[in-house]
Amino acid sequence: MTPNLQAATFAGTERISVTLKKPSPTIVLNAAEIEFDKVTIKSGAVTQEARVSLDPTKEQATFTVDRPVPAGTADINIQYRGILNDQLRGLYLSKANNRRYAVTQLEATDARRMFPSFDEPAYKATFSLTATIDQGDHAISNGAVISDSPGPGAGKHTVKFDTTPKMSTYLVALAVGDFECQSGSADNIPIRICSTPDKKGQTGVALEAAEAILRYYDKYYAVKYPFKKLDVVAVPDFAAGAMENTAAIFYRETLLLADPKSVSGAARTQIGVVLAHEMAHQWFGDLVTMRWWDDIWLNEGFANWMETKPLKAWKPEWHMELSEVRSNQSAMTLDSLKTTRPIRAEAWTPAEIGELFDQIAYEKGAAVLRMIEAWVGEEPFRQGVNAYIERFKYGNARAEDFWGTLTKVTGKPVDKVMAGFVDRPGVPLVNASVTCNGSAGSIAVSQDAPSTASATAAGQPSASWTIPVCVRTPGQPSTCTEVASAAASIRENSCPAWVMANAGARGYYRVVYSPEMIRALARAVDALAPSERIALLSDEWALVRAGRHDIGAFMDLAQGFRTERTPAVLNTLLDRLASIGEALATDASRASYRAWVGSLLKPALTEMGWTPRTGETDEQKEVRAALVSALGDSARDPETIQSARGMIQAHLDSNQPVDPTLLNAIVGVAAIGGDAALYDRYRARSKQASDPEEHYRYLYGLADFSDPALVRRTLDYIVGPEVRSQDTALFLARLLLNPDARRLAWELLQARWDDLQKKTGQVFGSPLLISSLGQFCDTNTRSEIERFFATHKVPEAERTLQQALERISTCSELAAAQSAKLAEWLQGKAPAAGARREVEEQ
Ligand SMILES: [Zn+2]
Repeated sequence: MTPNLQAATFAGTERISVTLKKPSPTIVLNAAEIEFDKVTIKSGAVTQEARVSLDPTKEQATFTVDRPVPAGTADINIQYRGILNDQLRGLYLSKANNRRYAVTQLEATDARRMFPSFDEPAYKATFSLTATIDQGDHAISNGAVISDSPGPGAGKHTVKFDTTPKMSTYLVALAVGDFECQSGSADNIPIRICSTPDKKGQTGVALEAAEAILRYYDKYYAVKYPFKKLDVVAVPDFAAGAMENTAAIFYRETLLLADPKSVSGAARTQIGVVLAHEMAHQWFGDLVTMRWWDDIWLNEGFANWMETKPLKAWKPEWHMELSEVRSNQSAMTLDSLKTTRPIRAEAWTPAEIGELFDQIAYEKGAAVLRMIEAWVGEEPFRQGVNAYIERFKYGNARAEDFWGTLTKVTGKPVDKVMAGFVDRPGVPLVNASVTCNGSAGSIAVSQDAPSTASATAAGQPSASWTIPVCVRTPGQPSTCTEVASAAASIRENSCPAWVMANAGARGYYRVVYSPEMIRALARAVDALAPSERIALLSDEWALVRAGRHDIGAFMDLAQGFRTERTPAVLNTLLDRLASIGEALATDASRASYRAWVGSLLKPALTEMGWTPRTGETDEQKEVRAALVSALGDSARDPETIQSARGMIQAHLDSNQPVDPTLLNAIVGVAAIGGDAALYDRYRARSKQASDPEEHYRYLYGLADFSDPALVRRTLDYIVGPEVRSQDTALFLARLLLNPDARRLAWELLQARWDDLQKKTGQVFGSPLLISSLGQFCDTNTRSEIERFFATHKVPEAERTLQQALERISTCSELAAAQSAKLAEWLQGKAPAAGARREVEEQ
């Protein structure tokens, strides 16, 4: 490869060794935006020049020779040229600090933009790469550098990389530019964290995490880290979050780099999580790869399932077990839509393949694995995982290969359970009831009628799932039972005071409790594990959304959480309260809803105070920040907004120190009703910032201003040249999250659509943007969105669009059914006269 960074082009010389099973006059490869200079095919002593014909739609090149290439081995030699594009795909151009970089992002179907290839995951090959680059630049690839020599030509040097093990084309990596690396190691594997030179001081947090994670994986997996080194590279422009290229993981800067002196707990955790995810892929994805993209969950679901394990061992105080439960819940929310998809879904075009990288692949995939693991036991599950890796390493697998191995190793019907969850869309509902007879009790669990999604899915039998259901009662360990079409019952020696029918919240199902059982659980909230409290809140909210319970039942439950101090549980509650405020509060009830939220949360903030005490844990800091955000956003508490604005002013004026976790919250709260002067200060601050957390704190903080003139400025800024195209969709998504800016943002988005489309790129940006439109809650906007995208097609977000439209419909139906009931419930909770006066005055 010879990239020319100034001209934004590259030239390539390629040799592919193939084995033909039968003679053929043609060979077809994938190629996109490639110009062929010369192609020859050599078999035995015969070399023939091939004619090249291109099919841009299919992204294929056909080589034709006069005499058929005989069966057996042959070499295809290709000289070609390509472009370093600005679309962040293939081998593309990135810029920072007046320097240029060439970087790859090849998943799913963009290796063909860098080199003509059999660009499908099942065609595994070894790759030997050599790059000729400018003096002063470095090159990083999958293999370690085995030689680096001057020339050819003045001002150039040639870097040769070690040949890779067998792997898929989409995992090939190359980064060229003035990268600098910090080195470490674990288990004798050299690890480097690389960045642009100005950010070298920000790689330490990631290096420490990478070393701990690698050591953990080497213990968990029977196959030790299978590649000779690991490079992790922060790239100035990167479309995805990070990419697990074999032994050369590439990243967007904000997920890898941090100033160790000012990093918040949340940013540090996120760096650990993403690293653990990409490093898990070195086994799940890179070593064992799905045979075709329909099983992408074998990569992504597994990496999401695995990512929490090393962190639980290394940093138990991060409570990754609760992040898992929150992730399960968000998967179930999406999976409750009629427009959801099964984990394994057909996809043939690049657009269809791209859309499979969704929450169903990542989060539902992981949730199902966690359920199975909890059911068969951690150690048997680990043995099954290792047997699967051993059998399919350096090769490809399908879902059946995994559950077949697990069934054999564990002796449990894993195949039966998994087949249902992988091939059937939707979330099972489990009815739980309890009957007491004298001193003994009996708990019955049964499946509800199949959800609409699964009943209507084409070709799906409407039979039931086989679900491992685990039940817990006071003072008893959990009991698990497999629930299929028939109800199952669990006997208790006494009549239980309460029943938690998803013990530890490991199950991928929602529980329908009777009203009496809910009341009993609400009274016993403190006896439930934090994970179970998250499940309870989420199940109950889902039942309100599904029209099966009234909002009053949820509000009663919510009141029982006023003393909640576990951040993951508190945030689950606060997210729901924000949704209720947006969707169900009307002009008539909004003030009393806000006052109620204030009365629920204010005592906790008063008790904690605004200043961290010495020795406070990260968790306590998170609780304070969550309370401040909710009191600002959902309660619109004037005192909280005032305090936040005072603090941010002092911080901006005189660098008065603020705890970084709290700072992230107050930047958003102070922007509520904020003016142009504050807006300008945020913008200036984001430009000055040298570390990513500080930069994005203020950049995305601009999205929290609601003054129409400022919303217009934000949109101009997003479309303009200063905001990187990798940030366009995320920035806009944040703007659409702001209920007071949402309507105007949608209007501006339509007006500027062509510019935005060009800038966001396709693969990752458009689905995120379109998904964010699902936050509207009225049928008029729904019709506008439907009409707009009927004439502005986005093939890579077709299912996402349907899901966004369905979410709007569901929300507006919910509002029609429950708004009056919310108002009624609030009337019964009217705050004292003093508090009400305060509300009216704002
Ligand atoms: Zn991944």
